[in-house]
Amino acid sequence: MALKPLIAANWKMNGNLALVAAVTDALSALTVDADLLVCPPATLLMAFPAQRNFMLGGQDISVAEAGAYTGQLSGALLQEAGASCCLVGHSERRQYQFESDQLVAEKLASAIRQGLTPILCIGETLTERQQEKTEQVLAKQLAAVYASQPELLSKSVVAYEPVWAIGTGESATPEQAQQTHAFIRAELGRYDAVAAMQLRILYGGSVNAENCAALFAQPDINGALVGGASLKPDEFVQICLSAKD
Ligand code: PGA
Repeated sequence: MALKPLIAANWKMNGNLALVAAVTDALSALTVDADLLVCPPATLLMAFPAQRNFMLGGQDISVAEAGAYTGQLSGALLQEAGASCCLVGHSERRQYQFESDQLVAEKLASAIRQGLTPILCIGETLTERQQEKTEQVLAKQLAAVYASQPELLSKSVVAYEPVWAIGTGESATPEQAQQTHAFIRAELGRYDAVAAMQLRILYGGSVNAENCAALFAQPDINGALVGGASLKPDEFVQICLSAKD
């Protein structure tokens, strides 16, 4: 990891005020050479103290900036609640909210326009991997976002999250992840060679305290997006401590 690592927690639809306090406490004692980010459910964002040693993020963002969009959250609302980042195109939103590559691209642009750093989530399903379509799928997901707006790459973070590894306890091996991250970086180099070299590419999918060090040792893995293990403050701290640049 030559770039400053980013360790991000994705609480998904989990957590409560007690977890906000426990994680804030656990992280406050940490000094690590990494950026730390917590993406809780939006209703919990304002429960975090203003003074903290980690960033906050939303788990999604609206394409629109204000108006009659019941249930959606704009960048301004997320920012006022303390967020500086947001996840975009998580596979659970692609699956359950039917978000298309096109919508994801619009959300990413909207996040940047509204002053948030987007973390673009991409990844292949098990069937796609078995059919050896991983690179094709990732190239398509990346092209949908950056082919027509390459200038957004320098303001983005990308998270590679193989769908088959999310919440399954079966992480990609460090070698598998490295190979795919290198592919992603090379692919993005076609849109902006300099930005691709400076881009942080996070790995996500069953990251835990045991497997994180081997993943972080890979040259193209610049951090992690952590789901289940981020709900356990002690384990999340262990993961943060394993991150070195
Ligand atoms: P997981 O989730 O760590 O529980 O596999 C990661 C994610 O979906 O961001």
